[in-house]
Amino acid sequence: MVKKDIASYSLDKLTAQLLQFEVKKYRSKQVYEWLHDKKVVDFAEMSNIPLSLRTKLNDAFYINDIKIARKLESSTENTVKYLYRLMDGNYIETVLMDYKHGNSLCISTQVGCRMGCRFCASGESGFVRNLAPSEMLSQIYETQRESGAVVNSVVLMGIGEPLDNFDNTIDFLKLLSFETGKNMSLRRVSLSTCGLVPEIYKLAELRLGLTLSVSLHAYNDEKRNRLMPVNKKYNISELMKSCKYYAEKTGRRISFEYAVIAGENNSEEDADGLLRLLSGINCHVNLIPVNQAKEQGFKATKKDCEDFLSMLSRGGLNVTIRRTLGADINAACGQLRGQLYKKPLNDM
Ligand code: SAH
Repeated sequence: MVKKDIASYSLDKLTAQLLQFEVKKYRSKQVYEWLHDKKVVDFAEMSNIPLSLRTKLNDAFYINDIKIARKLESSTENTVKYLYRLMDGNYIETVLMDYKHGNSLCISTQVGCRMGCRFCASGESGFVRNLAPSEMLSQIYETQRESGAVVNSVVLMGIGEPLDNFDNTIDFLKLLSFETGKNMSLRRVSLSTCGLVPEIYKLAELRLGLTLSVSLHAYNDEKRNRLMPVNKKYNISELMKSCKYYAEKTGRRISFEYAVIAGENNSEEDADGLLRLLSGINCHVNLIPVNQAKEQGFKATKKDCEDFLSMLSRGGLNVTIRRTLGADINAACGQLRGQLYKKPLNDM
């Protein structure tokens, strides 16, 4: 029998699963608490569960457990990057950022990525598989256990495209905000997407209260097609329509991510285009100097960002420069995992 991933079930689904063992209903609540409150990774530790049931659980299910393969602490910023090894031997990255208002955790949603953005290292070695809800949660549980820090907010901005793994991401968000366990308000969650339009509409309907971050990086189709292949499928006009819908439906301000790339998207013309594009949308723009994650030669200085920020602010846009946390530890998406395919782990 193929074992099932027990920590990915909601309490209702877990209760339905445990019916097969003819146990009382309160048992599923107890098991759920062991998994998400006490966060055990072995059925043997579930001390208030009868041994006979623990044995049956162990035969039918497994508990997803991720292990630290590498930990890199930034020397300049209060940032720690974890390379986690999944049970099947794949690797993902998680970044703990100590922001002024509490610890924020950047988690991965897929192993690899199929979106192919030209500046991003996440998809360099291709797409391997989606993460299960429990593997997204484990990044929080394991980082808290290891660091002793309490994670106060979560950003889905690590490896992968969360809306390309829609159902698991939604299940993860439900587990994250459930009263037993992390019990996190989804107002403390940001989900970043490269712009999968049908899923933005689907997400709007759910009205989860999270912040939607849209990776824009260019104001017109010609430029965005060059940087982000997804734009050939869903162009800027379709994307903007879905963003407006999301903002109207949820009452939430959209956050646009814009990686400044010198000579590529930071001219006066780019600023004017961006101002026109975003006028009338309840939004905020985050600028970030492109991190040289790949060998395609993209770069930008802090000054490039500041200059572009002045151009946009003059036009009345709500814009900030995102702190480039952990540049010295390859904290940009997929950089650390990417290195695994170039050098053995021990040499890193
Ligand atoms: N797939 C999602 C989330 C992961 S990427 C998305 O595309 O939004 C998180 C953010 O980092 C995105 O805005 C992405 O465009 C940006 N990013 C990726 N590589 C980068 C790099 N080398 N420099 C600056 N930003 C980068």
